Amino acid sequence: MSRKFDVVVIGAGPAGYVAAIRAAQHGLSTACIDAWKNPDGSAVFGGTCLNAGCIPSKALLESSELYHRAQVEFKNHGIGVGELALDLATMQARKEGIVRDLSGGIGVLFKANDVTGLFGHGRLLPEQKVQYTPHDGEPELLEAEHVILATGSTPIELPSAPYDCERIVDSQGALSFDSVPERLGVIGAGVIGLELGSVWQRLGAKVTIVEAMDQFLFMADAQIAREAQRQFKKQGLDIRLGAKVQATEITDAGVIMKYDDEQGGHEITVDKVVVAVGRRPSTDGLLDPLAGVDVDERGHIEVDLECRTTALNVWAVGDVVRGPMLAHKGSEEGVMVADLIAGEIAEMNYDVIPSIIYTSPEIAWVGKTEEELKSAGVEYKTGTFNFAASGRAKAMDQAAGLVKFLSSAVTDEILGVHICGPMAGELIGEAVLAMEFQASTEDLQRTIHGHPTLTEAVHEAALSVDNRAIHAINR
Ligand code: FAD
Ligand code: NAD
Repeated sequence: MSRKFDVVVIGAGPAGYVAAIRAAQHGLSTACIDAWKNPDGSAVFGGTCLNAGCIPSKALLESSELYHRAQVEFKNHGIGVGELALDLATMQARKEGIVRDLSGGIGVLFKANDVTGLFGHGRLLPEQKVQYTPHDGEPELLEAEHVILATGSTPIELPSAPYDCERIVDSQGALSFDSVPERLGVIGAGVIGLELGSVWQRLGAKVTIVEAMDQFLFMADAQIAREAQRQFKKQGLDIRLGAKVQATEITDAGVIMKYDDEQGGHEITVDKVVVAVGRRPSTDGLLDPLAGVDVDERGHIEVDLECRTTALNVWAVGDVVRGPMLAHKGSEEGVMVADLIAGEIAEMNYDVIPSIIYTSPEIAWVGKTEEELKSAGVEYKTGTFNFAASGRAKAMDQAAGLVKFLSSAVTDEILGVHICGPMAGELIGEAVLAMEFQASTEDLQRTIHGHPTLTEAVHEAALSVDNRAIHAINR
């Protein structure tokens, strides 16, 4: 006899586990199946984000930043630390402890909310039936009123740099090095390339990032991308643009990366290579052809604005569908879908999704870039404020970068906020909330900000839109 649920979720990453918890909060009987296995064979919930993405990368970014600051910045504060030592094993163990705590916490949340957590593989069959195959057991049929597909994504492999899982690795491999490579090559100057490149560079590696596009961080506002590029250059990150990797060769002397740019062919030899050229939606073995779920030419499960697939009562959320591959985007889609299944009115505001790159300085933005507004013919006004004039940023010795506002010249509505600077990822929250409430720039200008805080830089940038900044010379 098959088990019956109101909702079966396939995938327990930030999209799936959040959808499952929300569905259960609505009183719906809910099961959530996840296939993730750690390299040691243990099964855990949390998906890429908790186990091999957001959380372990941020743990290492934090540790490596502290190491770097102790090495370079402490002396500016008058603090001497003697000879600095790096204990990478402890750093990695700390990271693994954080991951273990958080992924274990999902099991606890499942129990507390009466979600049936199942370890194994899920496959969608016709009529909202799911074949669940436990890691060590026989397949079982589950029946559901609704199925939510949340199977995430996997790294794209490059034919010119196939993984050998030792010298040429993906992001998961690059989070687990047991020694600092002397020379590290990174293919792709996107979010992963910059974050993981920064980790190993701060810990002592000579990092070369090879990026196929001519433009650095093409998805960011160009002024912010230029500032970030300048800061990374100062830190010694060697970023080569317009460079296409043609081949890699593993030799005793290291991995030879062969790439072409405008000037012709080049070679560099490194000890390890991280391939970070994007991720692809994960649907292998997920869909019975008769289930009626369409997949687009890029491999995404096709959904409408409410995340309904082409099959009745089958929904899909997170990295496996269109839109930015971000944990918080997937989680909010999961909440929306669970609310819709429960009969509530719910929607996603895809125009107000924050993007954050956790480098130093951090880069964060929400809404439109100046280039997007220009090409759409929108009348806009801009304001900027440099952290160099922020008392708090100076006290922190982190005064590089700026905040930039883009506002409608017609209605004064905030259209985009872009930050390169200290704690940009935290600061952007204020802009996200303001834009969600469709605030005018004046709303933000008239909001009192604590002194001395970094948020004053956001306030001043908003004031600068109308040439009213106090701590900067207006144009
Ligand atoms: P996933 O987290 O990929 O989870 C999907 C789950 O489904 C996995 O556990 C998988 O094993 C399981 N699954 C797949 N197929 C099946 C099946 N057939 N049956 C059962 N289970 C299945 N995003 C951010 O917002 N902030 C960050 O700081 C950030 N940092 C990142 C750093 C790195 C190094 C990487 C790689 C990614 C990072 N991301 C970050 C992106 C983020 O991890 C993803 O956007 C997010 O994990 C997507 O969530 P998801 O639930 O859609 O999919
Ligand atoms: P990405 O899309 O951010 O960057 C990939 C980069 O590789 C691009 O700049 C692209 O031009 C370049 N590239 C592609 N093919 C290439 C080639 N053959 N040679 C050289 N360069 C090439 O992808 P990613 O960095 O792999 O990250 C994957 C996803 O994970 C992203 O969608 C991102 O949103 C998410 N992520 C988010 C965070 C965060 O929110 N802080 C952190 C890490 C990852």
